[in-house]
Formats: sequence, structure tokens, C-alpha cells
Amino acid sequence: MNIDRIQEKLEILADAAKYDVSCSSSGGNRKNKNGGLGDSHASGICHSYTEDGRCVSLLKILLTNHCIYDCAYCVSRKSNDIKRAAFTVEEVVDLTINFYRRNFIEGLFLSSGIFTDSDTTMERLVRVAKKLRTEHKFNGYIHLKSIPGASDEIMREAGLYADRLSVNLEIPTEKGLKLLAPEKSHSEMIKPMTYVKNELILYKDERKIFKKVPKFAPAGQSTQMIVGATDETDFKIIKVADHFYKNFNLKRVYYSGYVPMLEDARLPSIHSQVPMVRENRLYQADWLMRFYGFKADEILDRSNPFLDLEVDPKLAWSLRHLEQFPVNVNTAPKEMLLRIPGVGTKSVRKILMARKFQKLNLDHLKKIGVAINRAKYFVEFESHNVFTNFIDHQNFRKIILDTTKSKFTSPFSEQLTLF
Ligand code: SF4
Repeated sequence: MNIDRIQEKLEILADAAKYDVSCSSSGGNRKNKNGGLGDSHASGICHSYTEDGRCVSLLKILLTNHCIYDCAYCVSRKSNDIKRAAFTVEEVVDLTINFYRRNFIEGLFLSSGIFTDSDTTMERLVRVAKKLRTEHKFNGYIHLKSIPGASDEIMREAGLYADRLSVNLEIPTEKGLKLLAPEKSHSEMIKPMTYVKNELILYKDERKIFKKVPKFAPAGQSTQMIVGATDETDFKIIKVADHFYKNFNLKRVYYSGYVPMLEDARLPSIHSQVPMVRENRLYQADWLMRFYGFKADEILDRSNPFLDLEVDPKLAWSLRHLEQFPVNVNTAPKEMLLRIPGVGTKSVRKILMARKFQKLNLDHLKKIGVAINRAKYFVEFESHNVFTNFIDHQNFRKIILDTTKSKFTSPFSEQLTLF
């Protein structure tokens, strides 16, 4: 093995893979200096989270950045003048095994440019997974990108060897996709997604009867949408996400703010950048739909199509629906507790449990872990109701922003779990 050439390929193909956020990159660029310990530069290693919340390190690479397509938003598009490289199946297998043995990674995230046609490309990705599982008895995590248009047969094999499969929708609407990637269509992406969804159901049912039925993509399927390359509103984006969650049993939708790299009249200016906070707000809206019982149309609508960048979507909804507050923490149903700003799903579980034994007050909520600086305006107890002092909408918004400024204005300070 020519180590220098492999290193060069790794740098090119890990760099090209970083635009896929469906497993997020650590983004580190610190180099090893003065014989020190470690080097996070261009390693192709990123961190991802499993279903049970564990953080795992993945080798995140493309099999190749050669591509026959010319998607305007993609750095690997065929008209872009960049260094190209391709791994062989054996090289990816060797790298994965070597990194795994050295404890650098716990799994592999493998995607690819389309170098001939969908089936040939997908078949090569599947060969990597198959070789790892069958020849090397590799039990680490494998996430394979599904190539749009790949046949059912190859997708079936992919599901037998990979933990997770994902097809990127890329642009939320067909109209936007046609503008930036005329050779692609959503129907080509929906085909493998539909197949994977049906197989997931089928294998799950069969395993209930026959214990020896193999697992099919046990970590499910996900997708990614690019935000801000076209002019879709946040309302449109969350409606699309909602549709795919409901109809394709998706585990996750990832939102990737468009990063301008290429001059193209169809794309936003190279100097404009989607604010990180927009991406963050979309993830928060996504969590509201998945875990908090919100419908997409409640979060946004046609007359209010963009997420408020100043406040998180749950607080924004609450400010538009002051008539629903204050919520009595000791008597309200679970659905209403979930709607109180500053109260997360874990806190709701704890409140429901604790109130069986005693009447709760603000101090109890603090101990439970509720973000009291927000929640206090929206809750009431038998003897305590701060909310009614601030019934005027405009003043109320200002008061909340002033008193909890750092939590609401910085995209970095607010964690999704703060709901
Ligand atoms: S098919 Fe994929 S790799 Fe090829 S140009 Fe389009 S987005 Fe990039």
C-alpha cells in the first residue's frame, strides 16, 4: 500500500465528505506540533450520536469525488476544477479496520460521487460493507449513503450490512432541485427510500415470528436537506420534513445551511451565508414536531413562513398564543406541560411523577431541572402567577428577551435540550 497516496486520497475524500451533515463533523483543524499527542487535522473522523445518546467516532469519507452529475450546490460537481481521487473497496476496508483496531473510530460513514451509474456506485459501497461484515467480522457502526435511483436488489443488500441508510433529498422542493440539479429528480430519491421503508416494516414483522431473520438497517433511514441554496421558506422546509417523517419512517432529517463555494447565477451570492441560527431553529422546530406534539402548521403558516431568529420556536408559538397560558403545573395535561417554554420532555416526565405525591411550586420546578428564567412567565400554581403581570404581547416579548438575553440571541448558547 502506498501510504502517501492513501493519505492524499484520505485528505481529498474526507474533505469532500464534510458537507454532508447527516453525521456531524468535529470540525477540528489543530495539527500535531512539536511531537505532541494527537492530530485532528483532515483526519476524516467525525462524531455522531446513536439512538441511545452515545457519541461515536466515525470515519467519514467518500469512496470517490468523481461524479458524472453537475449539481450546482456541490463541490464535487463535474464542472468544478478540483483534485479528484477514488478509493478502491479494499482501501476503504483496510482503513476502517486499521482505524478501528487503533481505537480511532467506532464506525464508518461512507458516501460517494456517482462515477458511472447509480447501481454500479451503490454496488461498490455495498461491497465495502459486505467485506467488513463477512470477511473481517466487523461489528462497528456502518452508515451508507444510498445512491438515488439504485435498484431494489442492491438496496436490499445494503440494508443487510449497514446499520443506517440515507438518501439525501438535497433541495426541499422539486422545483428547486430542477433549478440546481436538472439531472436529478425527487422521484429517484423517493424510490430507494420507499423500498427501505417497506423492508424495515417487513423485516421487523418477520423477526417477531422467526428469531433468525437478519436485521435490516437497524438504525433506520435518514435524509438531509440543504437550506438557503434555493428560496424555500422555513414553513415549506418543515412541511417537507413532516411529510417524510410520516410517510417514510425516517429517524432523522438533517438541515444543512448552504455554504457558498461556487460562483453560479442560480445560487445565492458567494458572499452570503445562511446564518447558523436558522439551521439551529429548524432543528428546534423539528424536535417540536417529533417529541413535543406540535404540528408543522402550528409552528409556522403561510402568513408567518419564517422561524423567528430571535427566539426559539416554542417560545415564539407561546408568544403568539398567550391565551393558552398560564399553565397550571399541578393539573395541566401532559400535552400542555410540553408546550411551556423552558420545560423539556424529561422535566415533563418528572413533573407528572412528582405531582402524584405533592403540590409543586417554583422551587420544585427548579430542582426538577426546568429552565426557570423562561418557564416562570408561563406557569401558575395555586398561589403564584407571575404571568398575568405581562399580558401585553410586545412588552412581554421584550421583558423575556431582556431577562434571558444570552439564552435567546446566541445560536451557540442554546441547546436543543433546553426546551
Ligand atoms: S450527484 Fe452527488 S456528488 Fe455528484 S454532483 Fe450531485 S450532489 Fe455532488
